[in-house]
Amino acid sequence: MKFGTKAIHAGVEPDPTTGAIMTPIYQTSTYVQPSPAKHKGYAYARGANPTRTALQKSIAALENGKFGICFSSGMGATDTVIKMLKPGDEVITSNDLYGGSYRMFTRVYEKFGIKFHFLDLTKASNAEQHVNEKTKLFWLETPSNPLMRVIDIQALVVLAKKNNCLVAVDNTFASPFLQNPLDLGADIVMHSVTKYLSGHSDVIMGALVTNDEKLRDELAFITNSCGAVPGPQDCFLVLRGIKTLHLRMERHCQNGRKVAEFLRNHPKVGKVYWPGFPDHPNHEIAKKQMRDFGGMMSFELKVDKLENAVKLMESVKVFSLAESLGGVESLINHPASMTHASIPREERLKNGLTDTLIRLSVGVEDVDDLIEDLDQALKVA
Ligand SMILES: *Cc1c(COP(=O)(O)O)cnc(C)c1O
Repeated sequence: MKFGTKAIHAGVEPDPTTGAIMTPIYQTSTYVQPSPAKHKGYAYARGANPTRTALQKSIAALENGKFGICFSSGMGATDTVIKMLKPGDEVITSNDLYGGSYRMFTRVYEKFGIKFHFLDLTKASNAEQHVNEKTKLFWLETPSNPLMRVIDIQALVVLAKKNNCLVAVDNTFASPFLQNPLDLGADIVMHSVTKYLSGHSDVIMGALVTNDEKLRDELAFITNSCGAVPGPQDCFLVLRGIKTLHLRMERHCQNGRKVAEFLRNHPKVGKVYWPGFPDHPNHEIAKKQMRDFGGMMSFELKVDKLENAVKLMESVKVFSLAESLGGVESLINHPASMTHASIPREERLKNGLTDTLIRLSVGVEDVDDLIEDLDQALKVA
């Protein structure tokens, strides 16, 4: 089945009791059993819920995976992967990471004796220098947030496999429409479902997908033991959102390209970070492993003053100043004080994340209105 057909049909079957074409919201905490040792696959809703089961199948199919597990947030999904490790284990990850992942790794898990190496993974050789017999996991995020660096997933998978390490990829920015890490050899795909999969800025949710049954069993065991599961109402909303994922993504990509080109040609704009530009340092890898380049981008002002960037962000009218991304509406964000505020300033600057960097999540509105809005806000900046 092709992507658009899977987005609408995968995992979803008419309700067996009524024929309802839409999966019902099974708002229940428990299930009545005919006998103590017998049930229909559902015993208690932390373990399983039919609305969630349908969604898990849908997301797994979109990632060309066999097994999906949903969580009450993206961080809940990440947390479950890290809980497979034990004290003394080491993780290779990138230095341009979602702020919340960085915070979890350094402030929650380092004190449990897990060591994280934050490296520039756009060069696989940097990982080679730090991998050793204690390394158990490569945690990759590409395209990265907010600098839109692209990591060669396949090259890192080769290195990880040579060293018996698992590879997990945070595929939130690309969405399964643009990139499928399992096809490139990764063991686990993670999503903040909150973003493109849900697509309407009304749900917090996470997901993991894998093709490996043993891994699925281990991850499902931790999920059921620790309990970060989503409610059925949210699962229903995401099932609904996914039905238009391919349509939304096509428009995000079209609008993204036009906005990126507008910014690049604007006299007040400095660097524009978008992997679709042929002179983006990782453009060739992006072209190889992604189907298109998406609607996420960042830019700096030529006058590198925080007050100018703040003025711009206060002046937009169609864009909304807010955290998050991937919804139908366009958002503007200031990573240094918002999404990435938990990364120490020195660390941030060292990695190229300046005080005036502005991130855009280009939505699916009429692109002329988006460009006009940025144009008037840039006049004020
Ligand atoms: C938002 C986000 C997360 C965290 O997901 P939540 O659903 O907010 O918990 C992780 N990784 C990336 C790249 C994100 O954008």
